[in-house]
Amino acid sequence: MEIKTKTDYLRLSLTDNCNLNCFYCNPLEKKHFLDSCEILRLEEIVRVVRILAGLGISKIRLTGGEPLIKEDICTAVSLFKKIDGIEEVSLTTNGVFLYDIVEELKRSGLDRINISLDTLRRERFYQITGRDCFGQVWQGIEKSIDVGIFPLKLNMILLRGINEDEILDFAKLTINHKIDVRFIELFRTSNRLKVQQNGLLSSSEAKEMIVSKYGGLLPEGNVVGNGPAEYFRLKEAKGTVGFISNLSKHFCGECNRLRMDSAGRIAPCLFSGYLYNVKGLVRNGASDETIRELLIDIIADKHKHNKKSAVIDHHVEMSSVGG
Ligand code: SAM
Repeated sequence: MEIKTKTDYLRLSLTDNCNLNCFYCNPLEKKHFLDSCEILRLEEIVRVVRILAGLGISKIRLTGGEPLIKEDICTAVSLFKKIDGIEEVSLTTNGVFLYDIVEELKRSGLDRINISLDTLRRERFYQITGRDCFGQVWQGIEKSIDVGIFPLKLNMILLRGINEDEILDFAKLTINHKIDVRFIELFRTSNRLKVQQNGLLSSSEAKEMIVSKYGGLLPEGNVVGNGPAEYFRLKEAKGTVGFISNLSKHFCGECNRLRMDSAGRIAPCLFSGYLYNVKGLVRNGASDETIRELLIDIIADKHKHNKKSAVIDHHVEMSSVGG
């Protein structure tokens, strides 16, 4: 495998707890959420991020669980932004609590927001997430646009038999709104195969549906933080549509990311199931140099742990590690 990218991106999960319970992720099914003493404290996370920044990590995405249930989320953003070498801090959220906090997040220095939203219909939102909060999410999206969070991305997981009839509605949103909609293939996870088994819908199918309705898509090279997505624009649209092919295309060689969960474990690859315990060192009085050596090993080993199968190992819970 040819490795084309350097590891410069950290997905940082701040909590394993969530206020929604999407059926394919199912965080609330867990018998045991981490106790607060098991979760890395903000100053411990900042220390690890500072060392990682010295090793080339320049972008951080805050995720969860749901990161907006953390009371110190704005403080976290501003502390990460002050770390030398960190150029960008972004957030992935379900958007339920966004309305009240988005201005403060922006003032704290947050660069970008991705909102996970699989439907534009209130009842269906309830069916997918177990909560009747679509209105709150939509208000949060509008407010984010008003306060000038750009780019603003909506991530829609493609779920066969559940939301494929909304692919065109999501694409249409980009015509009049400055929003980048990304259609994302469902990952299969070893502990949820049953609920996910009928769910696979490829991003190329979504793309074909959009092309047959709206005509050719104009390739868009210029979307900030576009990672493994391919971006296009409908004619004269304000926003873009992107397609992330988790399963139908492998992009291990282009993977630039590490994931650290709230218990201080780093997953170099979602699929390998391999987790390094960084908290152990942090809590046992290790020096920065010792932690740095472990992080250097993790980065060097990253591509050794690449995709062993197309199913995410159960040791790496999506709801803990944050997508
Ligand atoms: N609570 C936040 C949110 O909803 O964005 C952050 C955590 S959530 C686990 C992050 C993302 O992972 C969401 O966009 C969710 O849809 C996605 N996700 C969860 N399980 C997934 C799966 N099996 N395949 C693809 N994406 C998944």
